[in-house]
Amino acid sequence: MGLLSNLFGGGGDAQSSGPRIDTSGVKIHPAVDNGVRAGSDTFAGGTISCLCTQNPVEVSISAQTAHNHICGCTKCWKPAGADFSQVAVVGRDHVSVTANADKLHILDETATIQRHACRDCGVHMYGRVENTEHPFHGLDFVHTELSQQSGWSPAEFAAFVSSAIEGGVSPDRMDKVRARLKELGLEPYDVLSPPLMDMLASDAAKKSGVLQA
Ligand SMILES: [Zn+2]
Ligand SMILES: [Zn+2]
Repeated sequence: MGLLSNLFGGGGDAQSSGPRIDTSGVKIHPAVDNGVRAGSDTFAGGTISCLCTQNPVEVSISAQTAHNHICGCTKCWKPAGADFSQVAVVGRDHVSVTANADKLHILDETATIQRHACRDCGVHMYGRVENTEHPFHGLDFVHTELSQQSGWSPAEFAAFVSSAIEGGVSPDRMDKVRARLKELGLEPYDVLSPPLMDMLASDAAKKSGVLQA
């Protein structure tokens, strides 16, 4: 990776075409700032809790997550002070609210992803796609950092990175932010990752008849 090739004087990565970018002090998200921790192949789910010290909302997730990623969009919930969120997907059948469900409300019922948030602490407990025509229907979006368990699937890439500017990151800092993401092994994309974008485009092509369903 970038760090190793710099240490050993090699090149060949994305930074080799220009001067080394100093990424010291660049923070992305607490879950990855000290390096991305591997998940466990045998992990089969756990419980996430909101940040309320009294009567926290609890959600049980009965499966390992997938497509975990860092996200720069302005809609995802971010921990205090973070410029990015970390969010993964899991089948909606594996998600159930197990405590204090009455504290949840849907932030925006018109959004593709309906985010169910705690009224008191503001944490998004799960985002659900209710439109049965949407290719992501059946998937819920969750923040596994809200769990005490370890073994959840690790972040694999960074999505909607340019949107961090809309969230308040100075455009001048984006070179450093992207360099840091690459250093962490989190390829920065300004939409979703290629596999997810291909999934969305394939769905659109099937609906238009360009691609056989
Ligand atoms: Zn997002
Ligand atoms: Zn709460």
